Amino acid sequence: MNKNEMKFAALGGGQSVGASCYYLKLGASHILLDCGVGINQGMYYAPDLHFLMREGLVESLNQISRVYISHAHLDHMGHVFNYAAEFLTPTIYMTEVTRELTGLQLKKTVKASRNRRSPDIEYLSEKRVSCVSFRQELPCGDYTASFWEAGHIPGAMMTLFNFDNRRILYTGDYSLNPTSWTSGCQLPGENIDVLIMCGLHARHPFVLQKNKDIDGIIRKIYNSLRINQSVYCAAFQLSKGIELMRRIETSRCKDFPIYLDDRIYEVVKSMERLNIPGPGQNVLPLSLNKRDSVHIIIGASPYPPPGRYRVVPADFTLHDNFNETISFIEKVNPKVAFIVHSPPARYDKGTVADVIEKNPDCQTVCVFPETGRVYNFENFSV
Ligand SMILES: [Zn+2]
Ligand SMILES: [Zn+2]
Repeated sequence: MNKNEMKFAALGGGQSVGASCYYLKLGASHILLDCGVGINQGMYYAPDLHFLMREGLVESLNQISRVYISHAHLDHMGHVFNYAAEFLTPTIYMTEVTRELTGLQLKKTVKASRNRRSPDIEYLSEKRVSCVSFRQELPCGDYTASFWEAGHIPGAMMTLFNFDNRRILYTGDYSLNPTSWTSGCQLPGENIDVLIMCGLHARHPFVLQKNKDIDGIIRKIYNSLRINQSVYCAAFQLSKGIELMRRIETSRCKDFPIYLDDRIYEVVKSMERLNIPGPGQNVLPLSLNKRDSVHIIIGASPYPPPGRYRVVPADFTLHDNFNETISFIEKVNPKVAFIVHSPPARYDKGTVADVIEKNPDCQTVCVFPETGRVYNFENFSV
């Protein structure tokens, strides 16, 4: 065996969204990138970690010593503490903001699922997570990891691995340009050999307009408010509730009061403690206030409180569109881009790979890895 061999496999979230978990072998080091859950017809499912043993990539899952969590969305972190409760070895790396958001988000999910076998999130978050900062370099034996702001949501990080004179960048969900809550991603310089990229819209050439969905939600809210109809926004993921609050605050709905339920308000307060600017004066906790005038409530429950409300699900994505995905790959210009978290479009109208191929200045070979297949870097001249 070549002692510097490098391999990659998606254990979940290959050409789909949900249960993102990617295996990276750098020489003798076994690494996981993210460890999320997926939801299918109301049931949670986990990544297929045992694939690594079936394929002979590891003899025991305890050989995985480090897990890097990109950000606090359930599809990237929802399974990590179930996994950590079962296996004692791995240290889990994430930013402090991600740890905070993950704890709050998982406490809510565990409560909702009433699962008696749920892990002790607080304990594991305290004992097993090691917080990292942007631009920090972490020596990890054979390789070095460093962490870069990904945009997307607060705390989201990209991880760069330096191994055997090669540079491998895992993006997680990222945004090239500023969003309502972040200033966009920071790229860690030139000469990236391998890009492992979450490209939600890499196979959706018709997704060109940025934040199409969230603008549609804002429009629905505004159309109700202006005919004196209060609105209840159901935010299944707490972080989506906050993202929506930020967007409402800068939209034409901004003059209407916004009430946050206890759970979402708790997230806002904890963000303030971590120096992320809090909401404006128009945002109030739901529990404290009488609500006479037309207003907006953002809550974690799917159901509104008593009263007349139009219910609007806070269901949107804040991912790069098709053209931004191309710009990102062109900027990084790696030898190979493994594009994951990338469901196919209903109608096959081409992918970012078709566009990249035609660009003579871009050397990148784009690969869309299927879940449960091993890719050897040697085959891509890396
Ligand atoms: Zn995300
Ligand atoms: Zn995602």
